[in-house]
Amino acid sequence: MSSVKSSEHMEKSMSPRKSRCPIKLKAFLFCLIASLTPQLHAMQNSGGSLTVIEGPMFAGKTEELLRKAKTLETIGGKKVLLVKTTVDDRGGEGKESIVIGHDGTERAAFLVGNSEGGFSAIIRKVIEDNIDAVIFDEGQFFFDENCPPDKFIETVGRLVQMGKIVIVACLDFDFRPLPFTITATLRSIPGAIIMTLPAICERCGGMATYTQRLVDGKPAKFNDPTRRIGGKECYEPRCKNCHEAAKHCSSDDLLVGNLFDQVN
Ligand SMILES: [Zn+2]
Repeated sequence: MSSVKSSEHMEKSMSPRKSRCPIKLKAFLFCLIASLTPQLHAMQNSGGSLTVIEGPMFAGKTEELLRKAKTLETIGGKKVLLVKTTVDDRGGEGKESIVIGHDGTERAAFLVGNSEGGFSAIIRKVIEDNIDAVIFDEGQFFFDENCPPDKFIETVGRLVQMGKIVIVACLDFDFRPLPFTITATLRSIPGAIIMTLPAICERCGGMATYTQRLVDGKPAKFNDPTRRIGGKECYEPRCKNCHEAAKHCSSDDLLVGNLFDQVN
């Protein structure tokens, strides 16, 4: 995945007849969901809930998350814990544990690393502080090479099993556009409430459902790293017609992506 491919190769790799194997990918998703099935059934009977707020960058996901936190507190009378991963360092020095919406709204968060220890700390904090609702910003980032996505998904499941209100804001697709494993799995959980927010396309002003990554003003290459934390300097929301890779995709490409590759 380190070699630089030409745009011609990129188009070829995004064609409906590319070498990626949907059956293998679907099998991976099936196995992941199946492994969580007992947990999923328990979640449905726990009294807890899961809400997934998904969409491209600049769709207002974090703002919606912060609005929900405030509403849960002021109207619902709930005790809310906002959780942020250390991977998300967009706030800069001194703002590591602050979640900041694109509209400037801020809220202090409980900062955790992507590890079993970090996720256990969330559970302990929820018990010790008698938290009612746990909300996660940038949910797609709660994994890394030492902490596979299912660890975060298990944590979400355990919180719902505990009867908690859980809300996760996350990007649905990366810049290629391939689905993030965490988002794709969470939205597949029976009973999950899915809120899909569009942004406005920077090119044509239409409804944007994709995120375009830019490097020096030009579209990023397909094989660039999935994770690059940034803002308007390197990302734009775009509609399918204006997204440099999405316009070459079939609907099947967008459904299956290469989830398997992302976690291996
Ligand atoms: Zn557009």
